Amino acid sequence: MSLQNPVFIPGPTNIPERLRHAMSVPTLDHRAPNFSDTFLPVLADAKKVFGTEDGEVILFTSSGTGGWEAAITNTLSPGDKVLIARYGMFSHRWIDMCQRHGLDVEIIERPWGEGAPADQFQEVLSADSNHEIKALLVTHNETATGVLSDIGAVRRAMDNADHPALLFVDGVSSIASVPFKMDEWGVDIAVAGSQKGFMLATGMAILAVSQKALAAMEQAKLPRTYFDFLDMRKANAKGGFPYTPPLQLICGLRESLNMLFEEGLENVYARHHRLAEGVRRAVDAWGFELCAKSPDLYSETVSAILVPEGFDSNELVEHAFNKYGISFGVGLGEMDGRAFRIGHLGSLTEVMVLSGIATIEMAMADLDYPITLGQGVTAAQEYYRKH
Ligand SMILES: *Cc1c(COP(=O)(O)O)cnc(C)c1O
Repeated sequence: MSLQNPVFIPGPTNIPERLRHAMSVPTLDHRAPNFSDTFLPVLADAKKVFGTEDGEVILFTSSGTGGWEAAITNTLSPGDKVLIARYGMFSHRWIDMCQRHGLDVEIIERPWGEGAPADQFQEVLSADSNHEIKALLVTHNETATGVLSDIGAVRRAMDNADHPALLFVDGVSSIASVPFKMDEWGVDIAVAGSQKGFMLATGMAILAVSQKALAAMEQAKLPRTYFDFLDMRKANAKGGFPYTPPLQLICGLRESLNMLFEEGLENVYARHHRLAEGVRRAVDAWGFELCAKSPDLYSETVSAILVPEGFDSNELVEHAFNKYGISFGVGLGEMDGRAFRIGHLGSLTEVMVLSGIATIEMAMADLDYPITLGQGVTAAQEYYRKH
């Protein structure tokens, strides 16, 4: 099997050679006086990707899930009420985490393929006149269904309800790939991970935290040790880390930010839109449907594609891997067997995406899917030629 083939899973994403080199550094002493010269500018520059000037960036050695845990344990107390909508695997897992931490979780159930229901949030928050709900948790890009929710609309719903709850956003599969406006949207904690839009190895949760969230820490009683913002901020203020930092990932993040800024964030977002749109043209040409229910919900980073009745999406993904050596995403949760996913985020070009579309077509043809070879490729080519 060739290791040259890109992956088309929505994380971990392809690591460009430049970032592999950047992470290949000899040991640096994180207690040496010059560590802060490397470290502090990374924290400052990462804020631009989150769209925040007022917030602070905090890094933990963990995958994105650890970032969720940090968000809730630093700001909430046992029994606190939180509001969250379930519309996919990641919102589902965040609910589970809140419940295991003894929070009182009010859940709005939405069909998978829908997004964050701003109007329902507004109703619930308006009815909560005693302000018992302490936080609203939203998955920005639901990676299981390929749905991107409108966080600006969620903020307007909170403002219309005149509700002071904190707003936490899981941006693990959106941040650094699509616009994220933490300050404008009034997001209190945004969570990202190193292995998606930042194109790095897995192992670092990247959080941006508002001043309001930092103030909420003073009353927050959930137990926290490793993920304590206070320990982290104290050490960061002196240019260091409270324990051993993931040095190679921090060096990688330095270079990843350089790459994003050199391309220009607006161009990065435009590229993700183009890549996604080419995939959607292919899906349309096959006559298949996306799991996302309407165009305003389409994700620019991952497409979850429903397979026709009588076909098994897992078999398709497995076949593409075994025969052609390319990874696509399997269907998660309710989409198990019903949808496959094409991840189109991170270090990808039109040419690479065309190879993915061509390969999944071959796999589909092998398994007697009702498509003709070249249908999707042609549709994507036509789009890429013109855009
Ligand atoms: C990948 C992902 C996560 C985090 O997963 P980890 O494996 O813990 O990094 C969280 N939320 C979303 C939406 C994701 O796509």
